[in-house]
Amino acid sequence: MSDTELITKSQAQPPYFVGVDLGGTNLKVGLVDEQGRPLARISVPTDVPRGPEDAAKRMGKAVLDVIVQAGITREDVAHAGLGSPGTMDVPAGMLLEPPNLRGWENFPIRDRVSQHCGLPVAFANDANAAAYGEFWVGSGRAFRSMVLLTLGTGVGGGIIIGDHSVDGEHSHGSECGHIIIDHHQDARMCPCGQTGHLEAYGSATAVAKRAHELLNTRPESSVKKRVESGDELSTLMLAEEAEAGDELSMELILEAATYLGVGVTSLMHTIDPDGVVLGGAMTFGGHDSPVGRKFLDRVREEVARRTFPVLREKTVVDFASLGGDAGFIGAAGIGRLAYRKKQEIRG
Ligand SMILES: [Zn+2]
Repeated sequence: MSDTELITKSQAQPPYFVGVDLGGTNLKVGLVDEQGRPLARISVPTDVPRGPEDAAKRMGKAVLDVIVQAGITREDVAHAGLGSPGTMDVPAGMLLEPPNLRGWENFPIRDRVSQHCGLPVAFANDANAAAYGEFWVGSGRAFRSMVLLTLGTGVGGGIIIGDHSVDGEHSHGSECGHIIIDHHQDARMCPCGQTGHLEAYGSATAVAKRAHELLNTRPESSVKKRVESGDELSTLMLAEEAEAGDELSMELILEAATYLGVGVTSLMHTIDPDGVVLGGAMTFGGHDSPVGRKFLDRVREEVARRTFPVLREKTVVDFASLGGDAGFIGAAGIGRLAYRKKQEIRG
């Protein structure tokens, strides 16, 4: 999905906010205005093995660089926000044992980044930050409450209710990828170590794994030929082959959509949000692609089959719209919420 368009300083409405989206591969840093519109963005490698102290320093520098790139000064920036993969302690600003950031255990990342950029920093789970981005300026901008599922290596989840990100009492709220959709003994194993979780059925990793399992039973599939010629089996490949008419690929995509529909229904029955939004790398081209549209239709059909009449009629199920920018826009938005709270307290 393409990035959101940048606006110029003359189009922008101050104050400004900087968002940092910390991922296992890249660090994305962006500066947005009061309405969440980006003026500048930077992406640099996370370089996990160099450790958290080094990364915090580089994040601080990237924050200052993006401010320069936007043509403003640090004094124009009201607050920053940082979205990070867990596990974490959100109120303490600490990383605990993040599986995607090996060697970064028990690190006070929020305060270190703040020291290096000289700005106050708010802290959030990365999926909650992305959810807040979609809620603030993306697909959920008309909603009062929203769930985001990010479909990629795993299934990330974010829940926003009335400008509040649901972090939970122990920073394990909104873990939508780990809701249980199969309680049987032989349910699939989730990367978290438990079985039967949505992530074990609806992530790109899970879909690719399922494709590998079925390949030998489906010799006619064009996926089998591509794998034998040395191509790596990915959901991108499945999307391409489904588009070209391969039946196995389409079946696998629709199977994942069915499982996601089951999970989405449970989330709707728990929260009753205005909408559920699907983002991340595994959206099969979204609305612009016939495969993407079939995928979304299948999710919607499964939801419609399993939910209450009122929710079937009212709850929006759609794709996210901010692409890879959702994380830093949302992190900046969480920074903006923290800034507003401080303003209120000061009266
Ligand atoms: Zn799990």
